[in-house]
Amino acid sequence: MLTVDTAVDWLKTFAAQVEEQKAYLSDLDSAIGDGDHGSNMARGTKAMAEKLEEGGFKTVQDVFKTAAMALLSKIGGASGPLYGSALIAMAKQAGETETDVAGIVKAGLAGIQKRGKAERGEKTMVDVWIPVCEALDSGNLSKEVIQSAVARTKDMKATKGRASYLGERSVGHLDPGAVSSGYLFEALLKGGVLHA
Ligand code: ADP
Ligand code: MG
Repeated sequence: MLTVDTAVDWLKTFAAQVEEQKAYLSDLDSAIGDGDHGSNMARGTKAMAEKLEEGGFKTVQDVFKTAAMALLSKIGGASGPLYGSALIAMAKQAGETETDVAGIVKAGLAGIQKRGKAERGEKTMVDVWIPVCEALDSGNLSKEVIQSAVARTKDMKATKGRASYLGERSVGHLDPGAVSSGYLFEALLKGGVLHA
């Protein structure tokens, strides 16, 4: 169930995974971008984990809002405002429906798309968020769903973000933001949010 504790756990697990994989995320970004996605994300998620560690949250909304502010203040590049928008929208939605995980993640996706205007198939993080939302709706989110969504970005041609400057040459590489979003949802699977 989505509670203050499971939400904090979820985001801290995500932060730990980003920290562990930051070199890999930057390597992926070196191939089709400017090589900073791992360091960007790790800076933000470290600040986020430190804030979450302080505790004292009364609602799930507080948790997401605090996370959003920490990410926004530390992550540069395109992904900071995108993840920040996602978490702000998730906080807002959590204020309405505290425990509806599918609804909350869907609001996050809408926040990303409102800011970044990416649609499915443009080789961005939304290529992971969209299938994850669909799977949450039907109650069958799995590691496989997440990993195959991430893997599918490899054959896509980027038409949004920095990778779009490469055109056809972006094909054949995983999208770094899709990979980091994959970590977010694998962390969701690991924790207590989706379990009774
Ligand atoms: P920058 O591209 O500014 O260096 P990062 O390297 O941190 O920022 O993040 C790159 C990631 O951001 C991409 O891999 C992609 O997933 C995501 N991204 C870029 N533009 C968009 C967009 N318009 N909508 C959704 N995601 C995007
Ligand atoms: Mg980059």
